[in-house]
Amino acid sequence: MEIGLGLGDGLWERVMQIRLQSFTVSKRFALTISRGTTSGSVNLFVRVEDGGIEGWGEASGFSIGDHEQDIQRISRSLQRVAPLLAAHSPLERDRIHQVMRQANVPSAARSAIDLALYDWMGKKALLPLWQIWGLERERIVPISVTIGINTPEGAAQRVRDWLGLDPEIQTLKVKLGSPLGIEADQAMLEAVRAAAPHIQKMSVDANGGWALEDAIAMSYWLADRGITYLEQPLNRADEASFLPLYKQSPLPIFADESCFDCGDVVRLGDRIHGINIKLNKCGGLTEALSMIRTARSLGLGVMFGCYSDTVLMNTALAHLAPLADHLDLDSHLNLKDDPFEGAIFQHGKLIPTERPGLGVVKRGG
Ligand SMILES: [Mg+2]
Repeated sequence: MEIGLGLGDGLWERVMQIRLQSFTVSKRFALTISRGTTSGSVNLFVRVEDGGIEGWGEASGFSIGDHEQDIQRISRSLQRVAPLLAAHSPLERDRIHQVMRQANVPSAARSAIDLALYDWMGKKALLPLWQIWGLERERIVPISVTIGINTPEGAAQRVRDWLGLDPEIQTLKVKLGSPLGIEADQAMLEAVRAAAPHIQKMSVDANGGWALEDAIAMSYWLADRGITYLEQPLNRADEASFLPLYKQSPLPIFADESCFDCGDVVRLGDRIHGINIKLNKCGGLTEALSMIRTARSLGLGVMFGCYSDTVLMNTALAHLAPLADHLDLDSHLNLKDDPFEGAIFQHGKLIPTERPGLGVVKRGG
């Protein structure tokens, strides 16, 4: 923070510029989950500039039950808080988060600023974030690609589409919780397995689409078929059912829609096996790190996920990826028009580069 030197005025000097720019991205394959279908999105590109260095962040909208953060709300909140942040240096991350929380800035907007501050710091230090955190890229596991809810034939075709795009894909995540019931879920999963017999690791995400009885039955059925873990089988509003499922399920249960931030990790810690961390939900890399430490201290597994994010946001989490057990950072692979380049996708893994900060650049720039 710098104090204005105009003698006697006592005002903070404006040192940090924040710029917002919305942009549209389109999916190669529309994605259907238990809550609906998306074929593209409007995201927000956030830049923080200070001292000739620019830090980059991104936000995308999401909704979970009655909790909605659309891009207009995210953008408006940043326009509102930007004058309050301008007095600070990008190095004052803790203070900046205090200001944003006091101003009720939603988590996706806080995340965009947090990413930009980390990117700025890495560029200032001339170091990539994974190196600043002392992490080893060799520990990064392959990312999964997502197969949305579909007919059995449609799902099998989508598996072939993905493997055609990249034969090195090693992990699949299958969306279940079909409105047609668990028989439709079972038929689709069998079709996916038949279309990819060589895939060793497959997980299932029901996006809260099952009631307790179906969730217990499906946990046994999926365990028999070698599924690795089960994500958000129950609706977040049905929290009373989490403990009985936890006690009976032979599969590890990961919470996504039920787990936004550190407080949720502590609250759910005795009735789940792991958490799915997403930047838009939690408020950025700062909170993601706290969630990882908290989850580990409770003996929980850690996975990272995404919404309709470009490679910018997935690269941000890729820097922390050596700390995660499972990675679902595939949204950018399903974009036709990602404006950015960042972490490199090779041998099924998303590896951050040696470039400083996030290491994200404009495509072709
Ligand atoms: Mg999920």
